[in-house]
Amino acid sequence: MSAQATKTDILTRAREQVLGRGGALGQDEVVEVLRTGDDRLEELLALAHEVRTTFNGPEVEVEGIVSLKTGGCPEDCHFCSQSGQFTSPVRSVWLNIPELVRAARQTRETGASEFCVVAAVRGPDERLMRQMRAGVAAIRAEVDIQVAASLGMLTQEQVDDLVDMGVHRYNHNLEAGRSYFPHVVTTHSWQERWDTCLMVKDSGMQLCCGGLVGMGESIEQRAELAAQLGQLEPHEVPLNFLNPRPGTPFGDLPVMPASDALRAVAAFRLALPRTILRYAGGRELTLGDLGTRAGLLGGINAVIVGNYLTTLGRDPAEDLDLLADLRMPVKALSETF
Ligand code: SF4
Repeated sequence: MSAQATKTDILTRAREQVLGRGGALGQDEVVEVLRTGDDRLEELLALAHEVRTTFNGPEVEVEGIVSLKTGGCPEDCHFCSQSGQFTSPVRSVWLNIPELVRAARQTRETGASEFCVVAAVRGPDERLMRQMRAGVAAIRAEVDIQVAASLGMLTQEQVDDLVDMGVHRYNHNLEAGRSYFPHVVTTHSWQERWDTCLMVKDSGMQLCCGGLVGMGESIEQRAELAAQLGQLEPHEVPLNFLNPRPGTPFGDLPVMPASDALRAVAAFRLALPRTILRYAGGRELTLGDLGTRAGLLGGINAVIVGNYLTTLGRDPAEDLDLLADLRMPVKALSETF
């Protein structure tokens, strides 16, 4: 076979490498996958789905998410409408403990096994850590659900405190590949994010770390994000598609074409064969109903139910109906330990 013929047949190579030998695709191969044509999209998604079911089974992990502190963040992540730097000053809104417990209970009632408490901050201060300690204790006392957290960059002491509280998984995204990150955030560095992720991994908490696609990055930079996540080996990767929010620096960017988003889903699965790959923000806008279904049959094995942080998600019942329709069981709480 000529070199040219080998090069054009990335899907055959991916099948042998990922499905056959259990090896993840590297950055250059992910670039090739991201460049496959629409005429091979169906084949690509089928391969990614086979990889997902082979290494992760048919279950879908369901998570609920709640914002403990919304808006007024000092950072300048260009995609984020919770930054206090872009739009007219957003007053921070704090949730109280009974509201937090109620949200956890509602999440559990959907069958979800994970409940993630999120705060729009650079990193937690003492007040937030106190709130978390009280909130996590109240949830664990009253609701049978795993508690996850996303509170920005951490110190080692804060990592230890979260472990002590019984936080099971910590979310901290890389957001973008290292080379594109300075175009996305200027108030902190990619390295600072990476360092928090390493501390979380070392602590015994599960690491949830993903990013966004469709922020104007090149195909190579999109593949770079997948490869850097592959290096980090998080337990879970939330994949967001940019939802250009008015007033943010990325507010005028076009919505990513659905076919590109689906190619990204499949490519990330091939770069991360054993990871929980979760649909996070932006999928309604980018993919719609048909695309959402295609992604669940193209490598995704986890969803967030209910409201996202700043934009309205779908009704949980719609997602649960869709999973039932696709004959994908919801992962039970007992399987998440
Ligand atoms: S992504 Fe997080 S750190 Fe960045 S502005 Fe939004 S809330 Fe703040």
